[in-house]
This record gives sequence, structure tokens and C-alpha cells, in this order.
Amino acid sequence: MWLGWSGQERSGEKRIAVDPIAQPARATFDLPTAVREQFYSGFCNSALWPLFHGFPTRVRYQDGDWDAYVRANDLYARHALQLAERGATIWVHDYHLLLAARSLRRQGHQGPIGLFLHVPFPAPDLFETIPWGAELLDAMLDFDLVGFQTERWSAHFTAAARAAGHVTEQDSVDCGDRVTEVGVFPATIDLGPFQTMARELPEVSGLRETLGERRLILAVDRLDYSKGVPERLAAFERMLERWPEWRRQVVLVQISVPSRADIPEYAELRRTVEQMVGRINGRFGDTDWVPVRYLYRSYSQQVLAQLYRLADVALVTPLRDGMNLVAKEFVAAQDPGRPGVLVLSQYAGAADSMAAAIITNPFHPEGLAVDLDRALRMPTTERVERQLSLDAALKQAGTPAAWAKRFLDQLGRRRFRIDSQSRRAHELDAESSS
Ligand code: UDP
Repeated sequence: MWLGWSGQERSGEKRIAVDPIAQPARATFDLPTAVREQFYSGFCNSALWPLFHGFPTRVRYQDGDWDAYVRANDLYARHALQLAERGATIWVHDYHLLLAARSLRRQGHQGPIGLFLHVPFPAPDLFETIPWGAELLDAMLDFDLVGFQTERWSAHFTAAARAAGHVTEQDSVDCGDRVTEVGVFPATIDLGPFQTMARELPEVSGLRETLGERRLILAVDRLDYSKGVPERLAAFERMLERWPEWRRQVVLVQISVPSRADIPEYAELRRTVEQMVGRINGRFGDTDWVPVRYLYRSYSQQVLAQLYRLADVALVTPLRDGMNLVAKEFVAAQDPGRPGVLVLSQYAGAADSMAAAIITNPFHPEGLAVDLDRALRMPTTERVERQLSLDAALKQAGTPAAWAKRFLDQLGRRRFRIDSQSRRAHELDAESSS
């Protein structure tokens, strides 16, 4: 059963709604109005998100936000315990719930508890800037298994634990009275939905018609400063300056999915992006050519799959990203005979398993412009070779179901150890009393 926030606020009594039709069953609850904003927009997305993505100067630490975070984690734990038996396995997801194991243990939960962090974990010198960092780390060590997307984030976590005085191995932290296991579980995608192409959807044929012979460069992300959109636009502009032969020959379609619009940083980013798009289009565009098509909206994955296949180049250039699934979806959707080229940031977790992409540094617009130019000029034989290698890596990584099973199997082995430890403790009690 999944348990999560309903997305709604409540002022009255608390209750859990269970959707009996969803498979697996889905339970949701409303957050109290007083907690929601400071928890979600506050500590989660104005403190942890920027810090974990390496933007300490964007962080806002407020005591009230931290208090709401503690309270929200307690609430999640309380609701979970209304649904789960004391010995049940609980798998917690992401940075919103780093205190959940501590809350669950305090409320008497005895079964194994795992955490998977979908986002990066920062290096110790960044992590230690959190005023409540020691408490957060301690609470993370209450999980039996903590999983990360990449070796790098997992190494940052064990380094933070070492800095706090714990003895660590690559895959565990010894806390004296208990051991926390640490593992790497790179998130994967289901290939099917991106490989089966239905008849071309109207949104896609409309774009195909307006493109004509022009090449399509595609970028798809939530409008978030970690995704590097202004840097990407600057690189595109630089490419049009440096290689005028690309003018009129390419179109950059930037899909920016609205995200966290009530946080000022995000509203400011939107203004910056819109100004840059306006400037580039005003500077280079003509009556019959708009260089950047900026779409502030989301599309279904069916539409995305067809757009990925239509694109000549995908620009996936986050400044920092836990994984980045768009990069994987783009590869899954390619026609093996005439594939597009993936230009991928070295700072996306996905880069660890996608060395056959053009790996780029998104902080350097000139370098990114060079890489984009190279992608556009790449001969078919090289594109096919790179696609073969990327596709093989994607298939080898397995399905999301296999990914989940691997995590839960490891957590399940913890259950066995916990059971056998507690049985042993029980035997010792019996010996001493006899
Ligand atoms: N996505 C979507 N519609 C859109 C844009 C994105 O359904 O218009 C999906 C996309 O297919 C992918 C996810 O949103 O599965 C984005 O995941 P990613 O890991 O790339 O970034 P995140 O938003 O989680 O930081």
C-alpha cells in the first residue's frame, strides 16, 4: 500500500482516505493548513532541495519551517502506523521524510524501515551548513537501509557519518547500538511506453509540419533552477552566434513544466527564462523562423515519447540532478536506424550509466555550444553506435519493478537479522532469569 499526502489542506479532523481500486492500494491524508506551507514550500523546497542540489546561497533556513518539518514527519509516521502492523516493512521515499524512521521508532514500530533518496546527497562541507544537520543525520541513521541513486551521493552520506564520529564502510554505518546499511539503487524506467509508438498525435504532427526541414533540439524539464535552463539557452544563443550556418536550420523546443510556482525563486526563474527566450527570438528570429519555442506546460508521456523520437538532439543539461529520467526516456524512444543524439550533463546521476552520450559541463556555455554543434553534425554511423551502447545499458539496468524488488529484498534480509537479533536477546533474557 502506498501512503502519501493528498495535496489538500485541512483545518478540521484528520482522516485517511483509501482508494480501494488502485493497485497497489493507495492511502492519502490531508496536511493541516498550519503545517503544509512551512513543511513543503518551506523546509523541503526552500532548504533541503537547494542544499542537496548544491545551491547553498539559495537556501532559506527558518526555525518555523524546521518545526513544521518535524511535525509533518511525525504525522506521516502516525498515519502509517494506522495502516501498518508493528512488524511491517516500511519503505520511505525522498528528502521530505528524512525524520520518518525516528518518528516511527518512537511510536513503537518494530519492522524494518528503508529510505530511498531520489535526489543527490551533498558533500559533508555543504551538509554541515544545515543548522539541524546533526539531528537530521542521526535520524537518517535510524533507517535500516538508506539507498541512493549513485555511488557519489552514497559516499557523501558515509563521509557525513564519519565526520559525525561513526565508523563507516562503503555499504554501512556502525552507530554502536545498531548498523545502518547503505546501498546504491539507480532508478530505472519502463521502456515499453516509450517504444510503442501509436499513430502520430496531433501535437506532434503540428510540430513536424512547422519544422519542415529544420532540425529539432528538444529540452524537457520542470522549471527548476537545478535543471540549468538559462545556461542551456545561453549556450544555444552562443551556438547561433558562433556558427551562423545554423540560423534558420534549427529549432529549440523547450518544454518547461510549471513547478513550485509559489516559491519566489521559481517565479524569478520563470521571468529570467521568458526574458532570455524573448531576447534570442527577437535577436535571431525572422518572419518565417522562431528559434526557441518555449512551452510552459506539461504533456502526456505518449506525446513526449513521439517528441523524443522526432528530435535530432536532446539537451538534458541539469546543473545537478539525482538521476534524470528524461535522458533515459529519450534513449528508449529512438529509432535504432536513425537515432537522435543525447547531450547529457556530467552532473546528472544518469551520466554514470550513459557514457555513450555526449557528456557536457552545463556551467560552461561556450563548451555546451561546442557540444551542441557536434551533436548536430554527428554522422549517422556514430549516432547508431552510441545509441546501441546506450540502449544496451538501459536494458541491462532492468525494470522499475526489479529495482524495487532489489531494494525490498535487501531490506527484507534486515528483517531477518532484526528478527534473529531480537530472538537472541529474548534467549539471553530467558537465560539470565532462569
Ligand atoms: N514528464 C511528463 N510530462 C512533461 C514533462 C515531463 O510526464 O511534460 C515526466 C517525464 O516523462 C519524466 C518526469 O516527468 O518521467 C521527470 O523526471 P526527471 O527524473 O527527468 O526529473 P524530475 O522532475 O523528477 O526532477
